Amino acid sequence: MAELSNKTIKQVQVDLRAETTTCEKLVRDYLLKIEANQHLNAFLEVFSEEALERARQLDKNISEGKNTGKLLGCVIAIKDNICYKQHKVSAGSKILQGFTSLYSATVVERLLAEGAIIIGRTNCDEFAMGSSNENSAYGNVLNAQDNSRVPGGSSGGSAVVVQANLCHASLGSDTGGSIRQPAAFCGLVGLKPTYGRVSRYGLVAYASSFDQIGPFTHTVEDAALIMEVISGKDNYDSTSSSEPIPVYSSTLNFENKARIAVFPSTMNSDGLNTEVKSSVENILNDLKSEGHIVEEVGFELLEFLISTYYVLTTAEASSNLARFDGVHYGYRSKNANEMDPVYKRSRTEGFGKEVKNRIMLGTFVLSSGYYDAYYSRAQKVRRILTDKIRSIFKEYDFIIMPTSPTVAFKFGEKTDNPVEMYLADIYTVLANLTGIPAISLPLAEDKNGLPIGVQLLADKFQESKLLAFSEKLMQIETSK
Ligand code: GLN
Repeated sequence: MAELSNKTIKQVQVDLRAETTTCEKLVRDYLLKIEANQHLNAFLEVFSEEALERARQLDKNISEGKNTGKLLGCVIAIKDNICYKQHKVSAGSKILQGFTSLYSATVVERLLAEGAIIIGRTNCDEFAMGSSNENSAYGNVLNAQDNSRVPGGSSGGSAVVVQANLCHASLGSDTGGSIRQPAAFCGLVGLKPTYGRVSRYGLVAYASSFDQIGPFTHTVEDAALIMEVISGKDNYDSTSSSEPIPVYSSTLNFENKARIAVFPSTMNSDGLNTEVKSSVENILNDLKSEGHIVEEVGFELLEFLISTYYVLTTAEASSNLARFDGVHYGYRSKNANEMDPVYKRSRTEGFGKEVKNRIMLGTFVLSSGYYDAYYSRAQKVRRILTDKIRSIFKEYDFIIMPTSPTVAFKFGEKTDNPVEMYLADIYTVLANLTGIPAISLPLAEDKNGLPIGVQLLADKFQESKLLAFSEKLMQIETSK
């Protein structure tokens, strides 16, 4: 089993077609590992019987020589904010406890159509709001490498299930870093696609103009393959793009010399851990010695990113979360029987503290007296950022910066101070504010062996180039 976890999806498929293993055996092995790792609290639910049944069906197809799909035998978990028909979905919230989805997200349909086996749903921060998975109504997820540390958030469960080899890959969602930051904290590859690359249909909305679904994997090749399957136009999501989908997994060769921009402001910012900083510097030096061009580019907007992100996302969240009212969905307070108290009590009792903070902040920034001062100003900053990024990508192929200012921190370290927690997102929100794709790569470790993620950003719809260069970077760093 240990060997299998080191294989890429394509390598597993070679074994499956050679019949040296079966889907059923893969699932059984993972179920045993899941059983032995329950303390991590990474899965909220495991679809054991169903996964086994599906595996047997796929094995039958293989033995009959049927075309079995690009993700044949890929045992995958989905974050608990992605809908799967007739399965529970709670977005890590008590307000959706017991709620069963009536339809499947487009990503789920696409995974299933290509032979993937969905093994369970993963724990996450409530409504994907958080950077440490400490905001889930269903308890903390433990970082598998050091159980006293957080896995990152909000897709903490999706990161840990791959980190601990409880399944082959997973899907998370990234509104401001929720795939990349936990990937960095758990030593994984985590990709946030271009806004519109992957359908959001069936994703429980947090901030609709920021949210994207993306993969957690051990390898770039697996991320590329999953992207091939989940990307593309969807008539159920009008913001999805009809931009053609390259065969990402077969275009992983990057032969050119890249032009890379580095923002001095990101490298000199307060709070950047010295080991994280020197890891990124080492990688930049390695790239230079391989003949790539690395140049400093002024970026004076760093200090505005967090405030812009939190004004806009909380505004969108306050509107998106209005639907959880004790009437339409999930939890209803037993302490109220008239309309207003039903709304008030159900929301007061059903939502956790951070979600309530954000709904109030979002309502405030949208209120008539403050709209111009906060919401519309933040929109203007978003426009300035988008223009700036566009002009940078006229001259450069990539931007490199840390994924997170620190390695995985300890439980409780930042829970008393929300602003400190928000600052953990300083390097990740830019990609969501501007809609560009970004990937976190597990390229270094600190002196205690904790993973350090390096973030690579590219222009819109340049996933192909982003993945190819990621593969190159992984090769450069592993060959050292
Ligand atoms: N940590 C960020 C937040 O709390 C990002 C969350 C996300 O990407 N879903 O908003």
